Amino acid sequence: MREITAAVLERAAAARPYSTSRPISVCQLELESPGPGEVLVKIEAASVCHSDLSTVDGSRIRPLPMVIGHEVAGRVLELGDGIDDLRVEDRVVITFMPRCGSCSACSGTGQEPCAAGKGANGRGELMGGGTRLRRAGEPVMHHLGVSGFATHAVVDRSCLVPVPSDVPADVAAVIGCAVLTGGGAILNVARLVPGMRVAVVGVGGVGLAAIITALSQPGIEVAAIDADRGKHEVALRAGANVAVTPSEAIKTGLKGDVVIEAVGTVRGFETAVASTAAGGVTVAVGLPEPSQAAQISPFSLVADGRSIVGSYLGSSVPARDIPIFVEMWREGRLNVEALITSRIALSAINEAMDDLADGKALRQVIMF
Ligand SMILES: [Zn+2]
Ligand SMILES: [Zn+2]
Repeated sequence: MREITAAVLERAAAARPYSTSRPISVCQLELESPGPGEVLVKIEAASVCHSDLSTVDGSRIRPLPMVIGHEVAGRVLELGDGIDDLRVEDRVVITFMPRCGSCSACSGTGQEPCAAGKGANGRGELMGGGTRLRRAGEPVMHHLGVSGFATHAVVDRSCLVPVPSDVPADVAAVIGCAVLTGGGAILNVARLVPGMRVAVVGVGGVGLAAIITALSQPGIEVAAIDADRGKHEVALRAGANVAVTPSEAIKTGLKGDVVIEAVGTVRGFETAVASTAAGGVTVAVGLPEPSQAAQISPFSLVADGRSIVGSYLGSSVPARDIPIFVEMWREGRLNVEALITSRIALSAINEAMDDLADGKALRQVIMF
């Protein structure tokens, strides 16, 4: 048992601003020692992602109280029984797709989420069952098997991907979700060849990850589409060739051979489909509220030979793809730092949620 400091979401859908309603409290918890197949990680960096915000704002219902945070890097502090492929002090990225290792999804390509892992995440538990977090004896739930807005976390071995120690913890953390999602959509789904035009709808962390990954490929033109002109500056600084609002995109007939939808709204999705060139593909990576439906014309899909694909976590296999993105970063081809808009303290977590909700931040990284 270990005393830790963690950010606990006490209630969902609190009134804005969160800086006043303070739905997240930073407090002391007890963390159990790692069980068999589990690892205790000392957290070094954890970035604030929309999937955290959708738990806070109630658009994703999760069991509470819960230690949130799932885009995380740290160092191995203690290994549970049965782990012989990691060492104490290894720097690791913690991913949020725990695996049993033996079901059909786990023995396939590694892109399909494991049903048991997904089930555990949905219940706010670890793969091994139950929670390792307590407050005054009462259970506190895990967020996506990670719970990284904390000084320490116990996680399933299957969530960990080791990275070289010279990769800074903030860069490693952001690679674990934003880059896998936006960059994975480009590398795993888009199949770019020189001369193609890529358009990215929504310049948040995931959208900018798609932009920098597309720019890392030879002969690719990149357009950023975002209603917020402030985001145009961000996209252009990262190297995008052009940045426009959705209405400007329609007015000027801007089209992409590959269009990445990274807003996670029906409107964003419709903009992405409308901006896809004949013969092109729309790749949806944002997650709109589950009950919502979009209006698209089946005729135009057929007549223009266009397609729409969905891509969860950039169709990534974390253990395969994180080392690829790390290598691209190391070669200076992937400007991951462009995603990091600030480095903050854990105590600023409520304010950080406001800034993310207001579109004022891409990735705010909590440094420990
Ligand atoms: Zn995320
Ligand atoms: Zn499995």
